[in-house]
Amino acid sequence: MARSKSAEKKPPLAVVEEAAWPNVQEDLDLIRRAPWLQDPWQRLVSLHTLGRVPHGLMISGDRGLGTLTLARCISAFLLCSHPIMRPGEEAPCGECPACHLRRAGTHPDLIILAGDAAARDIPVEAVRGLIESFSLTRHGALRIALIEQAERMNRAAANSLLKLLEEPPAGSLFLLTAERADLLPSTIRSRIQRLTVAMPNRTALVDWLCQAHGLSRTDAELLWFVGGRELVTGQAPTWDWQGVTQALTDLVTGRLSPLAAAKVWQSIDRETLAHWLLRVWLTVQRLSMGLSCEAPEALCPALLLLARALPAEEWLKRHPILLAFLQTSTHPLNEELARERLALDLIDSALPARLA
Ligand SMILES: [Zn+2]
Repeated sequence: MARSKSAEKKPPLAVVEEAAWPNVQEDLDLIRRAPWLQDPWQRLVSLHTLGRVPHGLMISGDRGLGTLTLARCISAFLLCSHPIMRPGEEAPCGECPACHLRRAGTHPDLIILAGDAAARDIPVEAVRGLIESFSLTRHGALRIALIEQAERMNRAAANSLLKLLEEPPAGSLFLLTAERADLLPSTIRSRIQRLTVAMPNRTALVDWLCQAHGLSRTDAELLWFVGGRELVTGQAPTWDWQGVTQALTDLVTGRLSPLAAAKVWQSIDRETLAHWLLRVWLTVQRLSMGLSCEAPEALCPALLLLARALPAEEWLKRHPILLAFLQTSTHPLNEELARERLALDLIDSALPARLA
């Protein structure tokens, strides 16, 4: 993605970006292939055809369902001067000056607060940059601010955005995506329309992954279980999920030291590890309560062992530990120490309190 000139002057945390999306057509193909995205896409298109595009719109849904893909495609569609409007084939034309600018990442009416791998939060400086951009003259009929994973806005950033939403400039669309819309202040949520992308049921999703992406049933089941960014692209996890899970089992049952477990966990990035362990925790918790194992068959033996290794109330205490690990998973920490600390906390959930 090319950064705008104004963004170059800002500190790296102020992620005001303009986007180059040469492959909107690929994204549209993906939307048309994914059954759960077709209805939300049609609803977005009809907002345009009915002339009812609101000032604020939030597309929310679980990780990997393609909310960002939807947001990008609708932005490209709305900015296009001659969009294709044939029913079922609605798309940006790809040829007009607006499409060219958008493809090059230099469209003056498209401002993006994108994810920054190094920063979990969207800082207030980024929103201030956005406000600055909105004070300039509009190029075309509509200006779009796309805020990716809007729940990452810190309180000051959210307050700044709120001021814009309270008196939105004419011809503007604030398009937000969120995985956890409930984390956004209610003052913001009450000022924007919401479009929720619902998780398809397990059978429908697994069938689709097998048919559309040619995955084996086992890989499709595993991908469904993990969720995450790869879901919509149909890429089965390539990291050693069995080894990572086995290390957790061995750690909790005392067959592996915390340092050795942490070493195994070095094989994947912290964010993936955090999401995986939380997913595993959720199933273990279900098993501890006597519920059935909803995980893929290949995982169930390990998860059953885990559920038996600790009493339910002990597993409950591990939840805040795993959540804290997730919350800091994109922070620049010492990679080894972060995993070692996690492994230590997991075998003795009272340890963090004792050290505090
Ligand atoms: Zn166009």
